Amino acid sequence: YDDRDGFIWMDGDLIEWRSAKVHVLTHAMHYASAVFEGERAYGGRIFKSEAHSQRLLESGAAMDMPIPYSVDQIEKAKADTMRANGLSDAYVRVLAWRGSGPDMGVAAARNPVRMAVATWEWGAYYGDAKMKGAKLDISKWKRPSPETIPSHAKAAGLYMICTMSKHAAEAKGCSDALMMDYRGYVAEATGANVFFVRDGKVHTPMPDCFLNGITRQTVIGMMKDKGIEVVERHIMPDELEGFEQCWLTGTAAEVTPVGEIGPYRFEVGALTRDIATSYEQLVRGNH
Ligand code: PMP
Repeated sequence: YDDRDGFIWMDGDLIEWRSAKVHVLTHAMHYASAVFEGERAYGGRIFKSEAHSQRLLESGAAMDMPIPYSVDQIEKAKADTMRANGLSDAYVRVLAWRGSGPDMGVAAARNPVRMAVATWEWGAYYGDAKMKGAKLDISKWKRPSPETIPSHAKAAGLYMICTMSKHAAEAKGCSDALMMDYRGYVAEATGANVFFVRDGKVHTPMPDCFLNGITRQTVIGMMKDKGIEVVERHIMPDELEGFEQCWLTGTAAEVTPVGEIGPYRFEVGALTRDIATSYEQLVRGNH
């Protein structure tokens, strides 16, 4: 990803893509002091852009890493980067991290918090699973308690669990992994939230120790508007057997049907297709 044409916004300036580099003694590289956002632009406009900027600031605050920019400044940085790269449908990555500075130990309050914005074209996150239903592994790694780490933040450190889970899943021919939480309840996939359908009713895990995705909240709002009953609750893994449909939500994943999780099978049913289509219309029709 580092060797291509284009521009990346870094600490206030748009610079050549290939020059967007950091020093090896960057605090974030050693101690995972970084938070980020993943966003999608449709027809040149970033869907829920301000909500993402706001969440970035909240993730920074939660990780004791105040980000020295306002929502308005982040909005401008994203718009400038989109324009410089001439992209219309694009993925947008905003990253804030603790840089190198006077401190190299765990404590690094004197090191600057830096920010970058990159944007590139990114098609369907799960490839053709979008149509036929993704195959998911069940991860052995658990989402941690909110008493262990601010587990609602979109923080780099939390993603090591996701990378290990996804590598194990891909090695088994799956496109993603479903992770349980520290209590054993169903939590989320490695980069997306999960929904289930049984008897026309939608069930989704309570987001009390994982990211309450912006897509998740959008889709719940959409279903309530349609008069579909949505229950947010703790879901036990043995309940997977009784669900008829399943899908994932996320900025990159959008609404992706799930066909299999471990030994359990789901149909890509009418409700799943309806939600996927409505989401697509919403992100495009909004603009
Ligand atoms: N959970 C995790 C671990 C994620 O990385 C993402 C993607 N940001 C989500 C859920 C979905 O969040 P959103 O809908 O805000 O993209």
